[in-house]
Amino acid sequence: MLKNDQLDQWDRDNFFHPSTHLAQFARGEAPNRVITGGTNCHIEDRDGNKLLDAFAGLYCVNVGYGRQDIADAIAEQAKELAYYHAYVGHGTEASITLSKMIMDRAPKNMSKVYFGLSGSDANETNVKLIWYYNNILGRPEKKKIISRWRGYHGSGLMTGSLTGLELFHKKFDLPLAQVVHTEAPYYFRRDDLDQTEEQFVQHCVDELEALIEREGADTIAAFIGEPVLGTGGIVPPPAGYWQAIQAVLKKHDILLVADEVVTGFGRLGTMFGSDHYGLEPDLITIAKGLTSAYAPLSGSIVGDKMWKVLEQGTDENGPIGHGWTYSAHPIGAAAGVANLKLLDELDLIANNRTVGGYLNKTMTEALGDHANVGEVRGEGMLCAVEFVKDKDSRTFFDASDKVGPQIAAALASEGIIGRAMPQGDILGFAPPFCLTQSEADEVVSKTAKAVKSVL
Ligand code: PLP
Repeated sequence: MLKNDQLDQWDRDNFFHPSTHLAQFARGEAPNRVITGGTNCHIEDRDGNKLLDAFAGLYCVNVGYGRQDIADAIAEQAKELAYYHAYVGHGTEASITLSKMIMDRAPKNMSKVYFGLSGSDANETNVKLIWYYNNILGRPEKKKIISRWRGYHGSGLMTGSLTGLELFHKKFDLPLAQVVHTEAPYYFRRDDLDQTEEQFVQHCVDELEALIEREGADTIAAFIGEPVLGTGGIVPPPAGYWQAIQAVLKKHDILLVADEVVTGFGRLGTMFGSDHYGLEPDLITIAKGLTSAYAPLSGSIVGDKMWKVLEQGTDENGPIGHGWTYSAHPIGAAAGVANLKLLDELDLIANNRTVGGYLNKTMTEALGDHANVGEVRGEGMLCAVEFVKDKDSRTFFDASDKVGPQIAAALASEGIIGRAMPQGDILGFAPPFCLTQSEADEVVSKTAKAVKSVL
């Protein structure tokens, strides 16, 4: 076992941490935290602190930590066959079984699943497939992708462009030209306070129509959206939003990509967010909950309409020129099979409806009336508290006020991990699906205490 001082030194000297203030970290001004173990909803750090992880890592350890079944499946697969590729028709029992399990659970009219490693690469795959599709259909101009401000779709070149958060664009020369952004369905932050939810949905539709008109429908290939905005602030859409948006997309022959990296496999209390909101996507992005992050694995689920054209494309042009060395990696696939089995056996999606609903209800009761809480919102096992400087005049905090990070730090000192969302004024919760009612009570009471200690 390495001494703590040694590990800290190596960490600061060698490790380029993602989404981290590099200079502060290197100078030792920002803390490091070394995690050593986890069971169900709890993780433990090397100092022996036990924390209730109410964000499931990065909303991904859905079945909870320390699941023996998944660990065994990974170990057995590694011993039997750690790797073989999936090119030119190769597969393993694990990858073939997992494809069947995914398609059995997918919404209707979906055809096949393409495996990747991360949500970002799955969305890169989606964009390539969309471009290929329109080229095969003889529509080379129809290539732009519409995304929403506050959407999160990854941090690659294309996916970082699709992401509608400034932090992911600034100084990286993003977004790329093929991406255009439209209004987020964020009713709480609407400009016109007199708008009802219904009128606000119409406003989102009008904005989308205006964008399509400006760009030309013959240049727009697809629209990508998370059923519930995640990293953009955990924002469920107003009633009727998705129906209205889908009608516009259908009218202009624009494909729909449902980015279900967070919502896929149960987080909203249904297998997919598409089931919850009645989406009929052409592509679905999956990652995190596919393996509960026990191994990296993602997927692009391709709908029937696109699949037919992809087949036609390979008849005309030869094998599809798209593949990762680790597509359908056997260890990831074995983890996925064991994870989806566990999800069923423990009936964890039903738990999201009951305990997730309870978490949202009790959080609203505890904090809804606080002078600096603008809104408590959520869906299934997702919950967010948005802080405001003044409720009546709707004065918002700046990111520089660091309200979210301060409250998250106060909460961590109480033994609970919530996530200060990148906007700086929202505290997010996305616990593992095995959260119990008494753990939900603990999250709520300690959050209320942390909020009151800061505001
Ligand atoms: N899409 C959504 C909705 C996400 O929340 C994320 C990550 O949080 C991604 C895509 C990117 O996934 P990854 O970080 O695995 O590349």
